[in-house]
Amino acid sequence: MSYPRLIIDLEKIYQNALTLQNLCGKNNIELVGVTKLVLGDPKIAWVLKKAGIKILGDSRLSNIKRMVQNNIPGPFQLLRIPMLSEIEEVVNYVDEILVSEEETVLKVEEVAKKYDKNIQIIYMIDVGDLREGIWYEEAPEKILNLSKRLSTVTIRGIGTNLGCFGGVLPTKENMNILVKIKKYLEKKLGKKLIVSGGNTVALKLVESGELPSEINQFRIGEALLLGTDATGHREISYLSQDTVILEAEIIEIDYKPSIPVGKIGRDSMGRIPHFEDKGWRKRLILAMGEQDIDPTGLKPFDKELEILHASSDHTIVDITNSSQQYKLGDIVKFRMSYGCALRAFTSPYIEKIYK
Ligand SMILES: *Cc1c(COP(=O)(O)O)cnc(C)c1O
Repeated sequence: MSYPRLIIDLEKIYQNALTLQNLCGKNNIELVGVTKLVLGDPKIAWVLKKAGIKILGDSRLSNIKRMVQNNIPGPFQLLRIPMLSEIEEVVNYVDEILVSEEETVLKVEEVAKKYDKNIQIIYMIDVGDLREGIWYEEAPEKILNLSKRLSTVTIRGIGTNLGCFGGVLPTKENMNILVKIKKYLEKKLGKKLIVSGGNTVALKLVESGELPSEINQFRIGEALLLGTDATGHREISYLSQDTVILEAEIIEIDYKPSIPVGKIGRDSMGRIPHFEDKGWRKRLILAMGEQDIDPTGLKPFDKELEILHASSDHTIVDITNSSQQYKLGDIVKFRMSYGCALRAFTSPYIEKIYK
């Protein structure tokens, strides 16, 4: 047994997947299970499939390849608009691609023809968050013009991404921009289109009944895997947050002053540290650091713990207020924010254990 480690509760992830699959099903929304947080982990991908999720989505082609090579059945959706340099491989591994650049789509068309593969695209439209997508005012004409140049590639629908760069929340208003564009394009193209309306944060609109009925695909990762919504800043009440638990080992426990002694420069990450004088404090050091976790995203089970700081390999925790008796070699448990979990899953120093 080695630490730090993640305890991944496959049953709880399965339950979250079932719950979300039901919620989306009832609202005629196709759920894309997003696996990027777990690097396309095949065991977790299987669980999502078993819960009835039809499409798996990932932002990284290497994660999709990992799933394919582990016999996870598709279809697969590529979430990050592709690099020109990866399109050969994308066409071979991926069924549905989110796109925003005409040049990229034409390259996909060319390669798809070569391999005789039908590729679906979802054209991303920026309704205000300022990440990927063509600006909504220009979208209808641009997509229409492009559609005339495609024969192998199918425009399956349009989509948007919110809550990522600008932190813009999904609302009835910005969703209705998409609906308007969809209706216009459907009329001009003479076919039905899907509207891929968002990620975890958009679940709120389903819960409140405000989601326009035309929005019929959600790409969801965080809610499935962690039961939380970082952009909406909440724990989702009907999902489990104990899907993934981080365990780390104590390598020092001691009393120290709360203010460093000596002239202060910057910390190991180049940050200017701030200290509050609380006198001498009881603290412990955990054998994990910035290379494995984001200290600001650690949520200790022991609510009396205060995370003070992490450098690359050490995390320092104030335990003065805790009623628990910690000793050297003990294990401390945490839930994690999305950003922290992302780093933990990516760290090769963190063992992954499945329950
Ligand atoms: C990561 C990602 C998602 C999933 O977001 P969650 O907040 O984890 O649900 C959806 N769409 C795109 C384009 C993404 O990059």
